[in-house]
Amino acid sequence: MPKYDYSCDKCGVFEVTQPITESPLEQCPYCGGNVKRLISSNVNIIFKGSGFYKTEYRSQDYIKKLKEEDKAKAPAKEKNKNQQSSTTAS
Ligand SMILES: [Zn+2]
Repeated sequence: MPKYDYSCDKCGVFEVTQPITESPLEQCPYCGGNVKRLISSNVNIIFKGSGFYKTEYRSQDYIKKLKEEDKAKAPAKEKNKNQQSSTTAS
C-alpha cells in the first residue's frame, strides 16, 4: 500500500498509508482540520507505473487496429495500382 503525505494546518505534515483506490483524506485524523495531500515521490512512481501499463495496453490495441486497417486497405490499393497501370498501358 502506498504512503501519502498530508499537510495539516495545525499538525503539520504526516504520513498515511492508504490503498490506491481510497479517495484522499479531507480531514486530519488527529484534529479534524482540513488537510491537503502532498505529492510524494512514492506516489509518483505508482502513478508512472499504472500510466505506463495503460499506455502499453492502449498502444497494443492501437497497433492491432492499425494492422487490421492496413489489411483492409492493401487489396484496394493494389486494385487501384492495377487499374492505373492498365490505363497507362492502353
Ligand atoms: Zn491536524
